[in-house]
Amino acid sequence: MGAPPTSIRRLLLEDGPPQGTPTLQRLPGRARPRQDALRECEAEAAEMRGYIPRVLWDFLVPDLTRVFRWRVQLDCGCIPEVLTLGDGTPPHDVQWKEHVHESQLPHGQMICWHDNSPSAPYRVIAEWGERREVTFPASAVEPPGGIDPNAWALIRHDEPHTSAFWKVTLTCGHVEEAVAPSLDWTPDSGLDRAPPHRVLQMSAEFEKAWRSNPELQTEQDRDHTRRMLVDGWPSPQPERLCYSCPQVRMITAYERVGWLVPRQKKAEKTVSRAPTPSRSALERRLQRAEAVAKRLRAELDDLE
Ligand SMILES: [Zn+2]
Ligand SMILES: [Zn+2]
Repeated sequence: MGAPPTSIRRLLLEDGPPQGTPTLQRLPGRARPRQDALRECEAEAAEMRGYIPRVLWDFLVPDLTRVFRWRVQLDCGCIPEVLTLGDGTPPHDVQWKEHVHESQLPHGQMICWHDNSPSAPYRVIAEWGERREVTFPASAVEPPGGIDPNAWALIRHDEPHTSAFWKVTLTCGHVEEAVAPSLDWTPDSGLDRAPPHRVLQMSAEFEKAWRSNPELQTEQDRDHTRRMLVDGWPSPQPERLCYSCPQVRMITAYERVGWLVPRQKKAEKTVSRAPTPSRSALERRLQRAEAVAKRLRAELDDLE
């Protein structure tokens, strides 16, 4: 039989996993010894029991007998080990957290920090979420190291002040924080813009500053400033640097490692749970077996 016709081959290809879906496969290298992983998890659970009230242990401290170990391959080439509760959900279907804002990453993504990652890109704010207020003490009179005293005099706060921080979801799906222009600002307040003559003035000032000091802002920050000027210098700014984007990796493949705490052998359970047949059922089975034996003996006799 030759190769299947082109149309069928194409169908077979299309039937395969869609591009980008992580595959279950044997990954290079091997998992850490189970005892090491277990010891770490036990220490973490013990620590949690230290600060979580006893009545909440069942809800908040993970039951280690339900923990399943996986290895995942990321598109940066790293192969970390991850844990899930139960083995029914593959690791790319879990929403992993980033630990700066404790927000959930989009499916299939994990943070894997690399020092040589690109710098944070600007992303447009798609959604305003939770709000919190933070009170800061009055600023020091002396400028902190490296800041021009005249500039410091303009930006320093004489009195303690409070700012409102909002969790924002960016168009990439990652979460950052943005400062509201005032305490009573809400997303319904919309964006404030500077008067057009002031924006023109600022544009001229920025262009002059960039010419005299080309390193004042990076290329990316300069583009951002230009976008804000073209938009009339909106406040709050509709875009934000995303610090997750450069450190986020996609899960490309995964491997099952096993339960953190070995399960009881299935066979033992099956045997102990198998119902004992009743006497009448056994008698019926014996009758059937005897009937078959009788027929086979008759066939043997015929042969002889
Ligand atoms: Zn990595
Ligand atoms: Zn992002």
